[in-house]
Amino acid sequence: MILVSNDDGIHSEGLRALRDAMASLDEVVVVAPDRERSAVSHSLTLHRPLRAEEIRPGWYAVDGTPTDCVLLAVHRVLGERPRLVVSGINRGANLGDDVHYSGTVSAAKEGTLLDIPSIAVSLVGRRTFRFDAAARFAERLAAFTLDAGLPPNTLLNVNVPQTEDGAVPRRFQITRLGRRRYGDVIVEKTDPRGRAYYWLGGAESELRGEPGTDLAAVAGGSISVTPIHLDLTNYECWERLSSMELPWP
Ligand code: MN
Repeated sequence: MILVSNDDGIHSEGLRALRDAMASLDEVVVVAPDRERSAVSHSLTLHRPLRAEEIRPGWYAVDGTPTDCVLLAVHRVLGERPRLVVSGINRGANLGDDVHYSGTVSAAKEGTLLDIPSIAVSLVGRRTFRFDAAARFAERLAAFTLDAGLPPNTLLNVNVPQTEDGAVPRRFQITRLGRRRYGDVIVEKTDPRGRAYYWLGGAESELRGEPGTDLAAVAGGSISVTPIHLDLTNYECWERLSSMELPWP
């Protein structure tokens, strides 16, 4: 069984495209937020009850975050451990620093924390989105992952550039995370009562990065696949600090 989730919500077109692509590999169950929850990162709903409503066979809408969805799916809804968790296809990039804010990536993170191989898939576009090419690549990568597995604590973060005609980009690259440069991120305006208000994420970011990064790959028209490790320990620093004599108490 394959679990499919996302952060754009259960009615998003990218979710359906991903579900249909996975259906050629195994039985698929969709457990996704009942509305858009983009950029909620890895948050959990702890202070109110959650409901999972089966809106049609194999499709469950949850009034929570992507992380809630994966947790509920694995521990309650599915009735068995999925062989794979796939999240997406997100409407928009999850490149470089985006992975820290992304609900799409966090659904895959939750799968990884539950020791299930997990993949996050995003389509890099701005206004028009055609998901078929990204869905086809996701299917190929999912088949490979089911076969080869993934190292512990590791997920794959995939970004597919939107081509003009919706064709599959011919190249893909295994990449490392870049640093995303945003322009003026905060838009400031004045409300009808004369008070300032702010809107995050106003400006478009430029797709440029050092060679070998996810940003550079996508800017060059290639699909990017970044293996992401969830152990955030800095081992070099750990070693250095461990050998230091800290004066305490
Ligand atoms: Mn999203």
